[in-house]
Amino acid sequence: MSYEGLHPLIRGKRYHILSENMTDVLLRVENLHVSVGDTPIIHGINLDIKRGEIHAIMGRNGSGKSTLANVIMGHPAYEITSGSIFYKGENINEMEVFERARAGMFLSFQYPAAIPGVQVGNFLRKSVASVQGEAPSPRAFRKSLNEAMNQLDMDKSFLSRYVNDGFSGGEKKRLEILQMLLLKPDMALLDETDSGLDIDALRIVAEGINAVAKETGCLIITHYQRLLDLIKPDIVHVLIDGKIVHSGGPELAMKLEKEGYDWVDALA
Ligand code: ADP
Ligand code: MG
Repeated sequence: MSYEGLHPLIRGKRYHILSENMTDVLLRVENLHVSVGDTPIIHGINLDIKRGEIHAIMGRNGSGKSTLANVIMGHPAYEITSGSIFYKGENINEMEVFERARAGMFLSFQYPAAIPGVQVGNFLRKSVASVQGEAPSPRAFRKSLNEAMNQLDMDKSFLSRYVNDGFSGGEKKRLEILQMLLLKPDMALLDETDSGLDIDALRIVAEGINAVAKETGCLIITHYQRLLDLIKPDIVHVLIDGKIVHSGGPELAMKLEKEGYDWVDALA
């Protein structure tokens, strides 16, 4: 394929061009304001995520958590009205979603969409091909697919089903993590990946996340301490009405689980 006209971060194969220049900050969100239509949702978020760091975002429903994840990934419904997002030292405000994916960003959806008629196996192969910029060798692909599916305790019968069509909540989330394991992102945004998972599935999914988290920047949106028992966050942020009002260590998640969000309202 031609790389002409693509964002500098993905000009060439990403393995070669993504020298971490400038700083060790992988993702920087700087005074970010975001609107959907005419409605402002995010009001000045600052966030620095380094490679190997796990950040958790917690907050009530409607506080803007998914909006933040979506705008970082470049979802066109969300408009940056001021502020910037930097990835590997480059301002990516204007970068297309597919370019971000090719530069190593990954979003696990809170509500993964069903794609009737598209089989999981084909979908995964095409995803890897388009993110890598070339088709993987069938043998290498089968090998990494087998390993990842074993790791997530997924039955091979998944591969011939249509993407998320009739999937349970837990199956959808496992498929999201399977994509992550195959795409090997540098920056993973995980939006309520734990919702709908039973205890065993939660443990398996957490192991999958931990397996990539050492090398990857992770932003994990969750409501539950139970995920953070399995994936140790470096920093926990509380989002209220589109602002990070408080950040702390893992103990903050425990306090929120016990005491709810009322006490942080005073900080907003
Ligand atoms: P959270 O993930 O924290 O529950 P969201 O980011 O999904 O919150 O939503 C924050 C606010 O933005 C909500 O009021 C929601 O209705 C609104 N919102 C988010 N996305 C859209 C959209 N695509 N269209 C209209 N409103 C939206
Ligand atoms: Mg959400």
